[in-house]
Amino acid sequence: MPINRDQVLFFTGPAEDEVLINCTRVQGLDATDAEDLTSAEQEGRKQVLMIAEFLQRDVPGFERASISAVAPQIGIRESRRIIGHYALTQADVVAGRKFDDVIARSGYPIDIHDPSGQGVVAAFIEGDGAYDIPYRCLISSNIRNLLAAGRCISTTHEAHATTRLTPSCMATGEAAGTAAALTVKMKLDPVKLPIELLQAKLRHNGAAI
Ligand SMILES: Cc1cc2nc3c(=O)[nH]c(=O)nc-3n(C[C@H](O)[C@H](O)[C@H](O)COP(=O)(O)OP(=O)(O)OC[C@H]3O[C@@H](n4cnc5c(N)ncnc54)[C@H](O)[C@@H]3O)c2cc1C
Repeated sequence: MPINRDQVLFFTGPAEDEVLINCTRVQGLDATDAEDLTSAEQEGRKQVLMIAEFLQRDVPGFERASISAVAPQIGIRESRRIIGHYALTQADVVAGRKFDDVIARSGYPIDIHDPSGQGVVAAFIEGDGAYDIPYRCLISSNIRNLLAAGRCISTTHEAHATTRLTPSCMATGEAAGTAAALTVKMKLDPVKLPIELLQAKLRHNGAAI
C-alpha cells in the first residue's frame, strides 16, 4: 500500500461487527495553510478508499465490509504553539520532573509520529511514571493576558508528543479556564496569579496534582 506507515491500528467499536481503523498518514503539509489543508483532506480521503478496497480484497472477514463513517475533518497532530514563560522539554518528561507551579500531570510517554518517515518514536517516563506540566507553559511570554491550552501550550517538539494527548489537553484546558476566571475576578495579570490559589481551586475540582 502506498501509505508511509509501518503500523496498522484497529479498535473494536460499540457494535459487534464494527472496527475503527487508524491507518492513514498524510505528511509534509502545513496545517496553517488553507491550500495544504485542502490537499490533506483529499489525500486522507483517497487513503481511506484505498484501505477499504485492500481490506475487502485481501483480508478474510472484510469481503462484505463497507465504510460506515469517516472523520469529518483531517486530524492535525502538530502545528502552532505559543512561546511561554517555560517550554517543557523531553528531559523534563523522561525524568518525570516535578514543578512548584504544576497545574496538570501526565503518565503518557513521548510518542512521536515521525513527520517524514514511517515509524513512531517512544520514550518512557522514569521515577514515579508521571511528569508535571507547569502553569508557565500556559502563559504567553510575548502577548499579555494570553493563556493557551491543549496542543498549543509551550513545549518542545519532543515534549509535545505527550502533552498533545487528549487527557492532558483536557487538564490544561481546565487549568487555563480556571486561571482566566480567577484573573478576571481578581483583576490580575495571569503572570501575577498566586499559584497556590489556582492549584487549590483545581484540587477542589478534582485535579490530581
Ligand atoms: C490522527 C490522530 C490520532 C490521535 N490519537 C490520539 C489518541 O489515540 N489518544 C489521545 O489521547 N490523543 C490522540 N490524538 C491527539 C489529540 O486528539 C489532540 O492532540 C487533542 O484532541 C487536541 O486537543 P485541543 O483541545 O488542543 O484541540 P482540538 O481538539 O483540535 O480543539 C480545538 C477546537 O477549536 C476549534 N476552533 C479552531 N479554530 C477556531 C476559531 N477560529 N474559532 C473558534 N473555534 C475554533 C476547533 O473546531 C476545535 O473544536 C490524536 C491526534 C490525531 C491527529
